[in-house]
Amino acid sequence: MLKRYDSFVKAPKINEEKIFETTIMNPNLSIVVPGGCNGKCDFCFWKKSTPCGNYLEKLNNVLTKLPSQFYQLSLTGGEPTLSPHLESILNLIDKKIFKHTVLTSNGAKLIDFVSHLEGKIDHVNISRHHYKDEINDSIFKSKMLTKEELQHVANELNKVGIDVTFSAVLNENLSTQEDIHNYIQFAKECGASQIFFRKPHGTLEPTEVEKAYESYKSSEYHCPVCRTKNQLIEGIKVAWKASLEEPSKELGGTIYELIINENGDVTKDWEGQMRVDYNKINEKYDKGLYECGGDSGGSCGYDDSDRGYGGCGSSIKSGCGYEEEKPKRKKKKNKNKKKKSEDYGSCGSSISSSC
Ligand code: SF4
Repeated sequence: MLKRYDSFVKAPKINEEKIFETTIMNPNLSIVVPGGCNGKCDFCFWKKSTPCGNYLEKLNNVLTKLPSQFYQLSLTGGEPTLSPHLESILNLIDKKIFKHTVLTSNGAKLIDFVSHLEGKIDHVNISRHHYKDEINDSIFKSKMLTKEELQHVANELNKVGIDVTFSAVLNENLSTQEDIHNYIQFAKECGASQIFFRKPHGTLEPTEVEKAYESYKSSEYHCPVCRTKNQLIEGIKVAWKASLEEPSKELGGTIYELIINENGDVTKDWEGQMRVDYNKINEKYDKGLYECGGDSGGSCGYDDSDRGYGGCGSSIKSGCGYEEEKPKRKKKKNKNKKKKSEDYGSCGSSISSSC
C-alpha cells in the first residue's frame, strides 16, 4: 500500500462510540436496482436477492429522509436496465435533492430507457472491458453491445444531455500502452467523453500500465479507501481508479457510503451486513476527517466526480470528490430562496456533478 494511505488506514478508528451517526462530508448513496444481470463476470460481487413487498415505498422513505450531505446518487445493479423497477425508481429521484446522479449499466436495454433518464440522470457509466467485442463478451461471459450499438446509444444519450463514460476493469488484455491506446480510440469512436480504468479492488497502488503514463500531467484525489488520478490522454479524459475491497470496514463508525440493497435494507457495506438506521444519521458530517476524493462510486469520478459501484465489479465502491456547496435539504423557506438566487446567478456556468 502506498505510504501516504497507510497513515489513514492504520489510524485509530474515529467515532466508534457514535457508530452510524456521522458521515464523511460527501457520502455516496447507491441503489442496487432489483433485478437480474445478463453478465457473469468473474470479478462481480453482486448477489441477487429478493425485493421486499413494499420495496418502492421503503426506497422512497430512505430517499426523502436522509440528511442533506447525501446529494450524490448512483443507480447500479446487477444490470439496472433489466429491472422491472427501474422506471419507478427513476420517478422517485428528486433532482432538487440529488444534484449528482449516475447510472451504471453494461448497456443491455439502455436504449429503451433514454427518455426516462432525461432530467433524472446526469451521467451514464457503461461497463466495457475491452475494445474487441469477442474479448469483451468473454469477460462478461455474455453477448454484449457491439461497437455500432454503443455508438447509437451514446448518441441518443447525448441528444438528451447525458454524457457517457466507458468503464473498464484493467485485465490481462488491457495491460499495455498499446491496449490503452486502442481502448481510447474505440471509446472516442463510440462517443464516450471520459474513460475510467479501474484496478481490480484490493490495494491503492497504481498498476504498471497506469505508471506508464506518469509523464502526463495529472490531478489526484485520494482518501483512506480509494484513489482517482485524472489525466488527459490522446484527447480524452481518463481517470485511473483504485479502491480497497470493502471501504466501510476500514473506517470505524464513520459512514463513507450507503447502499440500498435489493431487499430494501440500508447498509454501509456491499455485502449487506452492516445495517444502518437511516433515521439516526445526523445532518452533519465529520469535517475533520476528510472528504472522499476519489472514486466515486455512486456518483464520484466525474469532474465533479462519479462513483458507481454496486454489483458490477466494474464499478467502484468508494468515495467521491465533489467540492461544491451541498444542497440544503432541511432549511427554512427564506434560506431556500436565497440559495435559489445564488444557484441561478448571472453566470450560467455553474457546476453540477454495477454493472
Ligand atoms: S460485474 Fe456487472 S455485468 Fe458483470 S455480472 Fe456483475 S453486475 Fe453483471
